Amino acid sequence: MTEDTISQIATAYGAGGIGIIRVSGADAFAVARQIFRPVRGDLGEITPYRAHYGQITAADSGVIDEGILLPMRAPHSYTGEDVVELQCHGGSIVLREVLLRTWEAGARPAEAGEFTKRAFLNGRLDLTRAEGVMELIAAKSARSARAARERMAGALSQEIAAIRHRLLGAIARIEAGIDFPEDDIPAASAAALREDITAAASAVQRLLTGANAGRILREGVKTVIVGRPNVGKSSLLNALVGTERAIVTDVPGTTRDVIEEEISIEGIPLRLLDTAGLRAAEDAVEQIGVARTEQHMRDAELVLAVFDSSSELTEEDHELIARLREMNAETIILCNKEDCARVLRVADFDGVNAPVLMISAQAGTGLDALRETIAARVQMMEGDLSDGALPNKEREVEALQRAARHLSEAEKTLAAEMGTDFISIDLRGAYDTLGAILGETVDTDLIDRIFSEFCIGK
Ligand code: GDP
Repeated sequence: MTEDTISQIATAYGAGGIGIIRVSGADAFAVARQIFRPVRGDLGEITPYRAHYGQITAADSGVIDEGILLPMRAPHSYTGEDVVELQCHGGSIVLREVLLRTWEAGARPAEAGEFTKRAFLNGRLDLTRAEGVMELIAAKSARSARAARERMAGALSQEIAAIRHRLLGAIARIEAGIDFPEDDIPAASAAALREDITAAASAVQRLLTGANAGRILREGVKTVIVGRPNVGKSSLLNALVGTERAIVTDVPGTTRDVIEEEISIEGIPLRLLDTAGLRAAEDAVEQIGVARTEQHMRDAELVLAVFDSSSELTEEDHELIARLREMNAETIILCNKEDCARVLRVADFDGVNAPVLMISAQAGTGLDALRETIAARVQMMEGDLSDGALPNKEREVEALQRAARHLSEAEKTLAAEMGTDFISIDLRGAYDTLGAILGETVDTDLIDRIFSEFCIGK
């Protein structure tokens, strides 16, 4: 590689026991020789994959820090280039000083995601696996982390490679048949071709079905808490989040705007929104809050409808129940304040397609059952969230949809016994489109954009 040698702090910003600076590129070892003085021997001959203990020195030979140098030789490193990692003390000032020193010695600052981009460009990772790295770092729940690990290990890549392999076989079949007179495909070949195309199409469809689950693991299930004022929505949010994020008062309408928290329930990430309620608003600020509640209810994937089990249903409660009957989102009805005398009955919620749970947000009872119900409902909506091959990027979904269209065209052309040329064009279209998901056929602008979303130092 003729590219520059790059360096960056690889560990999180702030004070830590150790901090790591990573240097990658053809001059990585040369940089190390200039700034690192081993306690024993010299660095004339740097032994790869061995920890060297010594001092990191300034240009005037003063000591900046002491630490460990870990050299790795191309191509057996994360980036596929020569890499050295300098483990120093994890203070932000000392790390910064060592980093500046690597720049003095010939490296330049690495851009966000540049190490992983190099790994991709050097063929160490395909695009979906590289994105798995980023997702693992950003994962906010155990299941998201597992999905990211499987993506990193190549679950999605392999599935796509298998579909492409099948398509290539079909394309070869057609090309072999071009020598046949009058462009006719012999019946046996046509049957085999149909089988290939159908199998590829259904595999693409299967991936598209998993896309929503993939998105949920990345972004979280949009969960909206609704209910009239004072039923205990904020208390519920707090109980689930475990902090005092929402203000709990007994003055109706205090949650004027929407409060959003991210939580993880049985490993499933949830974006939890506490809303202002649907009450006829008295002032302008509340009106905005109510309008937002309406919008959030329309977009919600899961609705937690809260009622006060210790008082009769009010007009507003009845309105909400009527709304719930018409809604498509998964709904769970929560009768809060079960610690008080109970007035509400399950029959009050007839006609709403939702489980009814008794809870006390204040005493914390019934919350485990609620968590279990949420997890079960999400699984019901999205199927198996543990399948590794879950596309989750717009880019991937769009490419899969395009591939599906090509394949359905190819199926139609084959059924109509039209020219094999057209089939071949569509199969190639599907093949290339799927290749783009892996990063085989995407332009450099897109590559730059994808990697710029990575964090600095990765
Ligand atoms: P919101 O307006 O729906 O967000 O309701 P809040 O969470 O602000 O609660 C309204 C009032 O009900 C507060 O005084 C809470 O302390 C009280 N409250 C909330 N949950 C419970 C509960 O489970 N049991 C009892 N007894 N009171 C509760």
